[in-house]
Amino acid sequence: MYDALVIGGGPAGLQATLTLGRMHRSTLMLDSGTYRNAPVEAMHNIVTNDGRHPAEFRSIVRAELAAYATVEIRDLGAESVERLPDGTFSVALADGMTETSRAVVLATGLRDVMPDVPGFAEQWGRTVHVCPFCHGHELSGRRVAIQDSPAAGHFVAMLSPVVGAIEIVPPVTGVQMTSEGLRVSSDTGAVVVDGLFAHPAYEQAAPFAAQLGLEMRESGCIAVDLFGHTSVPGVYAAGDLAHVADLPMPMPSVLAAAYAGQLAGASVVRDAAMAHA
Ligand SMILES: Cc1cc2nc3c(=O)[nH]c(=O)nc-3n(C[C@H](O)[C@H](O)[C@H](O)COP(=O)(O)OP(=O)(O)OC[C@H]3O[C@@H](n4cnc5c(N)ncnc54)[C@H](O)[C@@H]3O)c2cc1C
Repeated sequence: MYDALVIGGGPAGLQATLTLGRMHRSTLMLDSGTYRNAPVEAMHNIVTNDGRHPAEFRSIVRAELAAYATVEIRDLGAESVERLPDGTFSVALADGMTETSRAVVLATGLRDVMPDVPGFAEQWGRTVHVCPFCHGHELSGRRVAIQDSPAAGHFVAMLSPVVGAIEIVPPVTGVQMTSEGLRVSSDTGAVVVDGLFAHPAYEQAAPFAAQLGLEMRESGCIAVDLFGHTSVPGVYAAGDLAHVADLPMPMPSVLAAAYAGQLAGASVVRDAAMAHA
């Protein structure tokens, strides 16, 4: 029986595991190896890690985690999570094993759903971006298209001091890299730019919120308080998959995920200590 089972090895799960390891809680972290920022070569807007490759970031954290004897990591998916009548958890793993724990931290992130637009998925994270803070600076002074949406005007205002020409384009029907630049097609024609900002749909990357019957927000993310508590005792959630009520939307960023992971890890420790006090 582990003190905590952390499902997810992105920034949220890694930080939750570090926090638990530093408090000598027996912790199993599971990582199926599918990270939201997998297509990018460099992460940005992260102190001490600006421009670092996400895989390098993860390997640095894993090396740090190796210093903590109570931490175990398995590169393995979880398949289901069940809350048992005594309030502990049973987690079925992809290798057919089952592990149990006193608490579960869900850090499985979100999955971006690529639209049925030729070239979009291939360019996602390369020349097609979602976040001006993460990838705007790399387009300094260059040509940018923004796919029309209720947020398009807001994006123009944010990016104007950074990029060169901005074009708002109707729903995109094709994206293709050419020798002149990125050709962005729509029903009204095509523009050639250096980068496109667009917002594909997203969904929970794992089924555990549904399996556990967790309360969700309209955003499609798990309802949590600032400390990562979900609606089910003993289940914590941190990172992109969760949404704190005071925020207008989930705030996907590496630092925000790590911060949430730290608070969730600390909450596991605190709640167990309070129960025994
Ligand atoms: C294209 C793109 C570029 C981005 N660039 C930046 C950037 O430059 N700077 C920035 O701050 N943010 C950036 N982001 C946002 C950032 O990547 C996310 O906010 C961050 O990765 C969220 O961390 P997380 O730990 O919640 O989830 P993730 O990093 O997605 O990690 C999820 C983890 O859960 C695991 N998992 C999922 N299902 C299972 C399962 N069944 N069993 C076991 N493990 C499972 C995965 O394998 C993975 O380890 C970018 C996002 C995208 C899409």
